[in-house]
Amino acid sequence: MLKQRHDIKSQTLASLQQHLQEAGYPDYAARQVFNWVYKKREESFFSMTNLSRSLRHYLKDNFYFSSLRLVKERQSRDGSVKFLFALEDKTYIESVLIPEGKRNTVCLSSQVGCRFGCRFCASGLLGFKRNLTPAEIVNQCLYVSDWLKRREAKLTNVVFMGIGEPFDNYENVIKALRIILEPQGMYIGKRKVVISTCGLAPAIKAFAAENIGVGLSISLHAAKDSLRNIIMPVNKIYPLSELFSAVRLFNRCCKYSLTFEYIMISNFNISKEDVLRLKKMVKGLNYKINLIPYNPVSSFNWQPPSSGEIFRFCRWLKEEGVFFTLRRPRGQDIEGACGQLRLRQKQGKV
Ligand code: SAH
Repeated sequence: MLKQRHDIKSQTLASLQQHLQEAGYPDYAARQVFNWVYKKREESFFSMTNLSRSLRHYLKDNFYFSSLRLVKERQSRDGSVKFLFALEDKTYIESVLIPEGKRNTVCLSSQVGCRFGCRFCASGLLGFKRNLTPAEIVNQCLYVSDWLKRREAKLTNVVFMGIGEPFDNYENVIKALRIILEPQGMYIGKRKVVISTCGLAPAIKAFAAENIGVGLSISLHAAKDSLRNIIMPVNKIYPLSELFSAVRLFNRCCKYSLTFEYIMISNFNISKEDVLRLKKMVKGLNYKINLIPYNPVSSFNWQPPSSGEIFRFCRWLKEEGVFFTLRRPRGQDIEGACGQLRLRQKQGKV
């Protein structure tokens, strides 16, 4: 019978260390392998010349390298680049590179599709297929990092804001995160990584206990349950009171950045009342609110806010002392909103 091989890029340093030690190899072997895979970017075990012949054979017999196939690359006028990848089972995911001055951020997908069906987001429209493996998450990061290297630039930031809900694929996302942060691996700075969630309260608590050191972003989008229920069905499972008790726990025990994403939708969530509710909700927290004008998705009827509405909402927030930044919409001409490119691929319009 053919032996089941493991995807080498799904291994954290600790799991590879354990695996190789059990097979009788020295403690440093896993570090050497990590160095080849992530620093030297070597994808053939036989070319890892400082490893013993026996170890190279062992690795070849027990591990393999998965890869992503690029289907489409679209560059926006504002410099962001969207990559559509096919996975080995012919499903599709997207990653987006967002260059901003010296900072190059990659936005990663964590699942094929999404189960949460937010009523403004393209990702949920095609339903949920499966979780990504740690390697499929790491591969997106490596692809974009290599793409930048060829252009003499460096990947500096990572956000889990692509397709899927990272905390619905908790174990694999945490593994991928450890590989991305690993000094012997990709070595992206902890403070440069953010995980975004639609608000799975129990996972937020588990994540706080993990104390990994990366930032947390909450997709809030509404300041009262009756509104949030309309656009985010997950709110019926974890209403704002539960979400905020988890968020307060995270904020208390981890001193890492806490952001709330707030999509501004015309005539829906940007009234004075919303500002007052937001103010009350974030009181006592160490936070920042990221305001994003709604990026239209044709299946939904929402309208983006006018510049007058944005200006008024920002003025109210300022008057009430709520901290926020206004995010410029990026990549609108390349359908940069979460899941849009994958949706078009399915519709045969790419
Ligand atoms: N499931 C995670 C991560 C994916 S969504 C989460 O919910 O946070 C990443 C971000 O893109 C979220 O803040 C989401 O609300 C936002 N987003 C999705 N569709 C959008 C749209 N049409 N316009 C603007 N932002 C959108």
